[in-house]
Amino acid sequence: MAGSARGKVVVLSGPSGAGKTTVLRRVLQQAPVPLVLSVSATTRAPRPGEVDGRDYHFLAPDQFHRLRREGGFIECFQVFGKDHWYGTLASEVTPSLEAGKWVLLEIDVQGAQAVMDRYPDAITIFLRPSSWEELQRRLRGRGTESEEAIGQRLARARHELAMADRYQYVVINDKVDDAVRQICQILAQHAEVNTHDRRVVGRRNHQ
Ligand code: 5GP
Repeated sequence: MAGSARGKVVVLSGPSGAGKTTVLRRVLQQAPVPLVLSVSATTRAPRPGEVDGRDYHFLAPDQFHRLRREGGFIECFQVFGKDHWYGTLASEVTPSLEAGKWVLLEIDVQGAQAVMDRYPDAITIFLRPSSWEELQRRLRGRGTESEEAIGQRLARARHELAMADRYQYVVINDKVDDAVRQICQILAQHAEVNTHDRRVVGRRNHQ
């Protein structure tokens, strides 16, 4: 795949509360490459304001599992700490890659591992909050959830943070502008040079 006219897969993960959505939207606007977002499928219900086909493809469990049996997913998992299934649809990724586009997947750590196995030249980025205290502050700051729900989110965050070393890049979301710039630099580098000759941007992980 590397070196051909095909696009690239870009994986972005990180605990909720790390400001992923804000960073992701800005990266999609400013990316130096033709980047499109893969809209995942999920069995969870839409939250207020979420739109089917834009935020997720909201599927009934039987639809989801039928697609799963038919091989419609590149990866799908019951996300840690959630009762629901989430998955990357092949129909969101394959046609875009074949058209030379870069496809951004915002998925959890299990999904990221499956994508790394399937697309070894995928660019993998982990977005982390500046500190554990900051993450707690952000999760509590929403003010909408019970202590129990916050405890579950923190347990998920701890689980996700423990996996950060599996990613090629770790970007700290201290300031949104800086995180967006670093991610755009990573994408620009991958557009210019081959995978064996990369300059280091931010903190590059050992693989
Ligand atoms: P939420 O329910 O808050 O929208 O998302 C919960 C988690 O599901 C997030 O950590 C997000 O990264 C993950 N997620 C969303 N879409 C996918 C997907 O297609 N595959 C996997 N493996 N995880 C996903």
